[in-house]
Amino acid sequence: MEGLLARCRVLSRLATHSPQLSRSFPQRCQHCAPGRGQRLVLSRMFQPQNLREDQVLSLEGKLGNLICKSQRLMLQVGLILPASPGCYHLLPYTVRAMEKLVRMIDQEMQAIGGQKINMPSLSPAELWQATSRWQVMYKELLRLRDRHGKEYCLGPTHEEAVTALVASQKNLSYKQLPFLLYQVTRKFRDEPRPRFGLLRGREFYMKDMYTFDSSPEAARQTYSLVCDAYCSLFNRLGLRFIKAQADVGSIGGTMSHEFQLPVDVGEDRLVTCPSCSFSANVETLDSLQTNCPACQGPLTKTKGIEVGHTFYLGTKYSSIFNAQFANTHGELSLAEMGCYGLGVTRILAAAIEVLSTEDCIRWPSLLAPFQVCLIPPKKGSKEAAATELMEHLHDHIVEGVPQLQGEVLLDDRTHLTIGNRLKDANRFGYPFVIIAGKRALEDPAHFEVWCQNTGEVVLLSKEGVMELLAQVQVV
Ligand code: ATP
Ligand code: MG
Repeated sequence: MEGLLARCRVLSRLATHSPQLSRSFPQRCQHCAPGRGQRLVLSRMFQPQNLREDQVLSLEGKLGNLICKSQRLMLQVGLILPASPGCYHLLPYTVRAMEKLVRMIDQEMQAIGGQKINMPSLSPAELWQATSRWQVMYKELLRLRDRHGKEYCLGPTHEEAVTALVASQKNLSYKQLPFLLYQVTRKFRDEPRPRFGLLRGREFYMKDMYTFDSSPEAARQTYSLVCDAYCSLFNRLGLRFIKAQADVGSIGGTMSHEFQLPVDVGEDRLVTCPSCSFSANVETLDSLQTNCPACQGPLTKTKGIEVGHTFYLGTKYSSIFNAQFANTHGELSLAEMGCYGLGVTRILAAAIEVLSTEDCIRWPSLLAPFQVCLIPPKKGSKEAAATELMEHLHDHIVEGVPQLQGEVLLDDRTHLTIGNRLKDANRFGYPFVIIAGKRALEDPAHFEVWCQNTGEVVLLSKEGVMELLAQVQVV
């Protein structure tokens, strides 16, 4: 009964005013047809749509001329809306895609023993002063003071915080290690040039993992485990990536790799060797070097978007905060650390950048905000009789294919032609778009199914549609 109440707005309003009424409710609600309350319809989505290019440019103000493809598309279809330079509202489709990405990241991190935590964004200045990064990163930090005059920054990364957290746990034993602690949180960086939408923001989501091992050998093993988990994530997303040797920058440590999506708009310059697996950020090489340091073959240049970064830190942070554990001899020993970032919001934009055409968004299938869009006929058209068939098909799909619950959207803007709505659907990049055209009135009814990721269009009966959709993977 509670579920029914929540679904039917008429009933839930009545129940608020009269609690005893809720006890006498019938099992079936007369106000909405069975299942209907659960139909997701496009007209009710909070979705500023179909902005023209000039409207998008004006949204971004003076930054307009720096727009890249993913940023323009994301603004045009209402995935994001600028709030201030480098800060964006993430609208419902984006949040859905991001939640899927986070689920995949959780799966990969937990498969290697990761434990999810959540640390405060307000980070006290003392922590940063202890590592000198208050001075080193001063301009990049978004700093603030509380009413007592105490200074903080909004966390741009959390090496200091997590090391102090682990150090606060006394009596840790080698038997408990390794610890692989990670979080998915907002990060804040006062970027000198925020640009390209979610690719370089001042406020963005990052997955950051910090690992604590009992020996350098164990820490190196953990390092390669995390790198493998990153490879698995990008492979599952179907994104071609390069794992490149990288500079350690202000984070420090002794070994580092970047995970890069090769694409021209990328701000990183990379070299790769076509004959062996060597790849590097040019920052790590002598500027005159043209041959591969591993096999001496000629190097090829490309540009990339950095979507992930791994660092082997050693005891750089554990020695400052005294993050220690009792070793096999019962003596205190410093933890060997690693840190590992994934740019969550950046991955969304970068995936759109590499997969989309100039006019149409394409998502990694697993991240598409909705898997299926159904387009019923235009009101008053010859095919209008198929409207009900489409609604039945909708209910049939969500009942018969459990993983597609919440993944099927009905484009109920029936004042528009099918053609117009198909154009929109193509732009949004739903992996499957199903149309009730003329053939829907045949007996048996046939639906036109547009498989966006393969470019195929097939005519299928209801059973055919069900068979096809039963194979769709959802995270
Ligand atoms: P960049 O060189 O692009 O400025 P970084 O090397 O400073 O990035 P890291 O400190 O390695 O970034 O952060 C981990 C991950 O967080 C990066 O690999 C990237 O995917 C993401 N990231 C970093 N800065 C931003 C930003 N301004 N906007 C969105 N994502 C970011
Ligand atoms: Mg980096």
